[in-house]
Amino acid sequence: MSKNGKDAQKQLNPHEIEGLRSKLKGQLLLPEDEGYDEARAIWNAMINRKPSLIIQCENTQDVVEGVNFARNHHLLLAIKGGGHNVAGKAVCEGGLMLDLSLMRNVEVNPEKQTVRVEAGCLLSDIDKETQEHGLAVSGGIVSHTGVSGLTLGGGFGWISRKHGLSIDNLLAAEVVTADGQIITASGKENPDLFWGLRGGGGNFGVVTSFEFQCAEVGPEVFSGLIIQRFEDAKAYMQFHAEYVRTLPDDMTVWMVVRPAPPLPFLDPGVHGKLVIVVPFVYLGDQEKGEKLIQPIREFGKPHGEALGMNPWIAWQAGFDGLNSHGARNYWKSHHLKDLSSACIDKVIEFVKNIPGPNCEVFIPHMEGAPARVSEDETAYAFRKTPFVLNIHTRWENPAEDQNYIGWASEFFNQTKSFANGVYVNFLSDEGEERVKQAYTTKAWERLVALKNKYDPTNLFRMNQNIRPTA
Ligand SMILES: Cc1cc2nc3c(=O)[nH]c(=O)nc-3n(C[C@H](O)[C@H](O)[C@H](O)COP(=O)(O)OP(=O)(O)OC[C@H]3O[C@@H](n4cnc5c(N)ncnc54)[C@H](O)[C@@H]3O)c2cc1C
Repeated sequence: MSKNGKDAQKQLNPHEIEGLRSKLKGQLLLPEDEGYDEARAIWNAMINRKPSLIIQCENTQDVVEGVNFARNHHLLLAIKGGGHNVAGKAVCEGGLMLDLSLMRNVEVNPEKQTVRVEAGCLLSDIDKETQEHGLAVSGGIVSHTGVSGLTLGGGFGWISRKHGLSIDNLLAAEVVTADGQIITASGKENPDLFWGLRGGGGNFGVVTSFEFQCAEVGPEVFSGLIIQRFEDAKAYMQFHAEYVRTLPDDMTVWMVVRPAPPLPFLDPGVHGKLVIVVPFVYLGDQEKGEKLIQPIREFGKPHGEALGMNPWIAWQAGFDGLNSHGARNYWKSHHLKDLSSACIDKVIEFVKNIPGPNCEVFIPHMEGAPARVSEDETAYAFRKTPFVLNIHTRWENPAEDQNYIGWASEFFNQTKSFANGVYVNFLSDEGEERVKQAYTTKAWERLVALKNKYDPTNLFRMNQNIRPTA
């Protein structure tokens, strides 16, 4: 039988489809069904694929049925967690998509300060429940990101410099393997799989739930934005590159170079002009945080600022609006060896020709707790990376695709010499050589061996794929 999803779908008869439906607690959607288009939609509007079948899983057994059905019928299989990944592998053309978005249960254990979350959770689902107990899980900075893809790639955000990556706080995961078994991966059970899940993406099975260690955070955090002038870009970025590396791990300061969004505290004349947005979060007393942020406030003559004690939940959703669903997006990314003077020059050169008002260059500072975990501990690599250079382009009109993609690609090419590796979760659909660049050679060999063991037929290949060699 053909392995192509579309061909295989032609061979599925209504009897087989009804047989699958009868085993499910969740819904089985076909292209003509109500809800099908919503279920197949993902964050990046560049991706418009039509699975032959979608299972809206309600529990682990639905996932097992889906995995078994895809394997037995040689269907291409895609897994949608939060549907946020820019590469768009959460949805397949033809084949079967497992939509986990109904699996959103969150159970906090306040005594142990742990939380068990189902795989369809968005980060906002987790913050909402954990904050009831003054807790948070280390995760990303846009609240409608899915916990699944984020965690399986690594997961960093405002508290990771102090508390580690999402994977550094992962205690266990429930996984449905390619042969339809439900197993646990943790330090004690299937530790080889546990190693691979922490950075190796969705290559080894479908995770149905994660258990995390939480950290005490909030309910308010000292946080805010300082808007530096683009005229001062070279001097500010050089200062920033050195200063943020001297800060304690409870202070995280990032940089976003872009046309100014219409922030209410900015003079309307600044809206749309190139600026350097400097967002920060401090996980301690406001007074101490103010001292640490003061040199940035005093640098040059900022256009404006908004800072103070903000509810953690509100801060976590503060960037959602700029990253809403439905726009076309193309990203290129590097882990930087350093934010050197020559690299800063390239950033400034390219930003001067930024192709649209919603494009940005995002430069998070990464050092801290993640770098203190040994490189062998998890599949996630390049833990000592000081900065990431993330080139985000975002637009609406398909006729302009080449303009945006071309700018991002050229920018990426001309900054390659400053790079060492990439974060797998920031990859577009760039092919196997680029996937390899997200890992050390040693980790890649171990990942391939793990793939040979857990998924030798590459059932799970709609992802940043690690091809089996078995
Ligand atoms: C606006 C924006 C902001 C972001 N901010 C951050 C950030 O602050 N920090 C950070 O670390 N990352 C960030 N990311 C990257 C993010 O981590 C990835 O896009 C991640 O893949 C999103 O997870 P998801 O579940 O929403 O994605 P999906 O698109 O649903 O999934 C991505 C891939 O993961 C696999 N997968 C998903 N769920 C499962 C599962 N349950 N079991 C097995 N495999 C699965 C599949 O292969 C799927 O193709 C951001 C992305 C965007 C678009």
